[in-house]
Amino acid sequence: MKTLRLSAAAAVASLILTACGGPPGTPQVDLSETSPEEAFANVTDERLLNARATPEEWLSYGGTYDEQRHSYLTRISTENVADLGVAWTYDLATSRGVESTPIVVDGVMYVTSAWSIVYALDAVTGEELWVHDPDVDRAVGVNACCDVVNRGVAVYEGKIYVGVIDGRVQALDAKTGELIWDVVTVDQTRPYTITGAPRVVDGKVLIGNGGAELGVRGYLNALDADTGQLIWRFYTVPSPDKTPDGAASDSAFETVGNVTWGDTGAWKTDGGGGTVWDSIVYDEVNDTVIFGVGNGSPWNQTMRDPSGLDNLFLSSIVAVDADTGAYKWHFQTTPGDNWDYTATQTIILAELPLGENGALRRVAMQAPKNGYFYVIDAATGEFIQGAGYVPQNWTTGLTPEGRPIEVPEARYAEIPYLQTPGPLGGHNWHPMAFNPDVGLAYIPAQEIPQAYVEDPRFQEDSTKWNTGADFAAGVPPVIPSEVFKFLRSGLKGRLIAWDPVANEPRWTVEHEGPWNGGVLSTAGGVVFQGKLNGEFAAYDAATGEELWVHDVKSGAASGPGTYEIDGEQYVTITTGWGSAYLLSAGGVAAPQPVPPAVGKVVTFKLGGDQVIADIDIPMVEPTPKAEEFGTDEQLAIGLVQYARNCTVCHGPFAVSSGVLPDLRWSAYTASAEAWKGVVADGNLQSIGMVSFADVLSTDEIEAIRAYVVQQAHNPDGINEAIEGGAP
Ligand code: CA
Repeated sequence: MKTLRLSAAAAVASLILTACGGPPGTPQVDLSETSPEEAFANVTDERLLNARATPEEWLSYGGTYDEQRHSYLTRISTENVADLGVAWTYDLATSRGVESTPIVVDGVMYVTSAWSIVYALDAVTGEELWVHDPDVDRAVGVNACCDVVNRGVAVYEGKIYVGVIDGRVQALDAKTGELIWDVVTVDQTRPYTITGAPRVVDGKVLIGNGGAELGVRGYLNALDADTGQLIWRFYTVPSPDKTPDGAASDSAFETVGNVTWGDTGAWKTDGGGGTVWDSIVYDEVNDTVIFGVGNGSPWNQTMRDPSGLDNLFLSSIVAVDADTGAYKWHFQTTPGDNWDYTATQTIILAELPLGENGALRRVAMQAPKNGYFYVIDAATGEFIQGAGYVPQNWTTGLTPEGRPIEVPEARYAEIPYLQTPGPLGGHNWHPMAFNPDVGLAYIPAQEIPQAYVEDPRFQEDSTKWNTGADFAAGVPPVIPSEVFKFLRSGLKGRLIAWDPVANEPRWTVEHEGPWNGGVLSTAGGVVFQGKLNGEFAAYDAATGEELWVHDVKSGAASGPGTYEIDGEQYVTITTGWGSAYLLSAGGVAAPQPVPPAVGKVVTFKLGGDQVIADIDIPMVEPTPKAEEFGTDEQLAIGLVQYARNCTVCHGPFAVSSGVLPDLRWSAYTASAEAWKGVVADGNLQSIGMVSFADVLSTDEIEAIRAYVVQQAHNPDGINEAIEGGAP
């Protein structure tokens, strides 16, 4: 898109203004002819390129192409943020996970909820304009590793683009919500999902997918914004026989990729992973699309590819030509990924004084799951510097090229390795922000250790969770209860203000636990972040001092946004429980008791006086539905099979966080026949509980029922186990 690239002079002017702290960039076109009355999402390439100069709007997932999530609005500042109150709320009508960052353009907010449903709201009042439901078959919910979430839409030339959880991408009319086009972007016989927000660059809709916990081959698609037609595709893993796909990635595999994969292993049938499920940024200076690549499939490299080679482009940051998708460079954060160490986390572009004699250098920054904060050259991918942003014990450091120096034991086999970060990462999908005025990146960081051990019953080519790591290794008595207690005491969360030039933290704020929200930075000197406990907070950007906090009565994990209409600045966040941690850690880690929360959009303004409605769903006292049964041997089988097959959705020890049913109280536990009807025969497939007959025998299914019923009768034992005693 040579014609749209910012001129060198404009780019330099933008840098100078950034350095001076004022709103950078100058609109390249006259936007005054756009009238909100006639225009819905009339977003052009020019508007996207100049988004920093129009902070009244929030035009794309990360706010601007560089995805700094830093707004130049200043009406809300450190001086008055304590006066923020609720302007309006909107009910997203879901108890599932909500991860969406609202887009605001021409006075309208476009926001998504669980199951990829899109809402258009009046951004001043919250009044509903339209709702679009893609009518997803709920059975695909089992493919979603981390709940049926969606992180938001893209807007461009009157259309709204949404990635649908079943692998479709849709274009909607921004004014009416009517469907314009609908394309399938994945092989729907494989367990692909889409949870990420599309981005639009020069008439192309960029979107990847997820599914690497179950077994897929990752790629990034560029679709024609007018028609949905595929323009280019970049695969992140070679084809099974390493032959060309006829895709944009072919030359990358011929030159650097194929030699990093062996000729045997589960990657050939499982797809190898490498899904592009979150971060995609556009570097207009270099006309480059830079995206983050996920973990290997299966996780365990011995099973995925026994060669032990680097396995490009897993866990890498990859740069391609925006027009053609042709390979430009890559930087691999975790060679030979073995731990679910995705590099899909927020990528932020910025100019930092890291050149010769302190000259500005254009960089990409990322805090991926593996615990290291990286600063690399945006033009070449060259490693500039990096350092651990959370404690880690899988390496002893980085080489001068940025390659991790591994601790050999971290390549677990039969002997478990107690590792931090675990698969949920030192930082997950919760968006990071960067304030160029104070030069700090704000990382929603966490510590969630994991006992990694090889899964003895791994099978190739499954469509269920299929990582090659044994999840029973996290549960007493499979592991000693002291180890479990140690793991649990290691759960931590904090907001880190990271100085990417000094390569160290400037300040940190400790939270009650992990899985806190995404971050918004503003030129008012304020940093906003939600917390797992339902508080939405504002901090001083320079010091971390807490300036304001508001209880949103739900989870507050999403990336907040801000916009201004008629001289009033608003701060907005989507709320709700769900997503990976609350499902997989269940009621054991979630604040107790977790109500069946309802997702919302909550929008604040100075002096706002609205009240967030209480969740008014009566809590029924749960009771076991069957008498205890089963031999000790049967109960032991039930525990292990539950841990391997059920924990990631229904919670450890059969204790749910409340997002999905707590099986202990399920009426289906009352009868072996009814239980088998669900688990083996798929009787609840229509609401997302598909058959497990391909991975569990009839005896194992009944053993799981015995274990679940035992847990229903055994609250003291569960509490003891959680606290570190015998279960
Ligand atoms: Ca993963």
